[in-house]
Amino acid sequence: MAQEPPTQKAVRWYPPSYDIRVESVPIPEITEPDDVIVKIKLAGLCGSDLHAYRGDGDDDMTPHIPGHEFIGEVVKLGSSFGEHATGRPGLYSSLKIGDKVVSPFTTNCGECRACRLGITCRCPQGTLFGCPALDGAQAQYVRVPKAGGTLFNLSDPKSWSDLLPNANVAEALSTISDSSLLLLADILPTGVFAVAQALNHPKLVPILTGVAWPPREGSTTANTIPSEDRTLTFAIIGLGPVGICASVALVDRLAAIGLPYRIVAIDTYAARRENMEKIFGQISNHGNGEFVARSPEEARTTVKEWTSGSGCNAVLEVVGHPSALTLAYDLVQPFGIITSVGVHGKPQLPFNGGNLYDKNVSFDFGRCPARAMFPMAFELLVKRQDVFGQVGTPTSLVDRIVSVDQAAEMYRAFDKREVGKVLFDPWE
Ligand SMILES: [Zn+2]
Ligand SMILES: [Zn+2]
Repeated sequence: MAQEPPTQKAVRWYPPSYDIRVESVPIPEITEPDDVIVKIKLAGLCGSDLHAYRGDGDDDMTPHIPGHEFIGEVVKLGSSFGEHATGRPGLYSSLKIGDKVVSPFTTNCGECRACRLGITCRCPQGTLFGCPALDGAQAQYVRVPKAGGTLFNLSDPKSWSDLLPNANVAEALSTISDSSLLLLADILPTGVFAVAQALNHPKLVPILTGVAWPPREGSTTANTIPSEDRTLTFAIIGLGPVGICASVALVDRLAAIGLPYRIVAIDTYAARRENMEKIFGQISNHGNGEFVARSPEEARTTVKEWTSGSGCNAVLEVVGHPSALTLAYDLVQPFGIITSVGVHGKPQLPFNGGNLYDKNVSFDFGRCPARAMFPMAFELLVKRQDVFGQVGTPTSLVDRIVSVDQAAEMYRAFDKREVGKVLFDPWE
């Protein structure tokens, strides 16, 4: 067996901002018994990588390898792995050298209360890939801590297919490309999560059931809502890759619910709006709905016209900037829902307690529990290969696959919105 080379090619982030280099660095080693080393096939460049790129991250950021989205092959297993591993997540006894794996963008132990509840993004032992605490995946190799609780083994779909009772996972996997499967690391689960938080919110129950507030056991016809009040109106702010995923996930769920709906998808960039309308036009079976893409100012008028001034039932905020939250607040109806999955930093929120009181607004903020959302994201990935399956077509989500040697240029172009979703092939 050939020795692995002692060094690897990797992207490195340098402070304070806009400084991306490609360097030769040591290949990561197993440092804890639960670690696995993965040889990267593809690594994603994500909108949230841009926060550090622009210098919006924590003040104490030190040079590190960025990137939290990857698919690859297991090349080294820590000593926790093997037939002796009993009473632990199944992967500790079943994962083998050579297995193909995809990882959620944060690690999680799979054994604590947070992990058992499915809030895997807040596992006390969880770490985000691609930060000073844990080098990321825009490299040839990555170290995965708590790997038996974190990874999905694509070579052994039986290890997770019981999470998807109605799908032939092995057959679906055989038809899906690596560039498409990589979307399961972050952006597709995050889009699905934004939608799930809104559609499962108690404030939507009256519209979904047709019975006026409050939701309660037992049925009576006395509080029935007229059908004209049961059109669902949504706004999605931000049409980068996660915004596209959220839009497709929302259309999919609303078509299944079957109620009439209207969605306004919002971005300041005309090219992104045109692309999003094309993607919607390509989705077959989109139910009884209307979908338009608008600039922020146009969207205010559209929502006013659609709802006679009352506002959207829910707004999905996928940007992570105070201006996006201001727009979300302005567009949402009283007793509405704002779901924010954009990464927010230091700036203060653009409203006070009085603003929230005056509209009875419900907020959900924060990171997606990507491991827990994986089954729902996988189902959507299989179903919507028309959007998630191709590379570089007018309606495909992945724009291009490039060498890591182009990292500095791709960060610049992605930051300027000159390119869509970029994946790195570190061996090219
Ligand atoms: Zn990401
Ligand atoms: Zn945990």
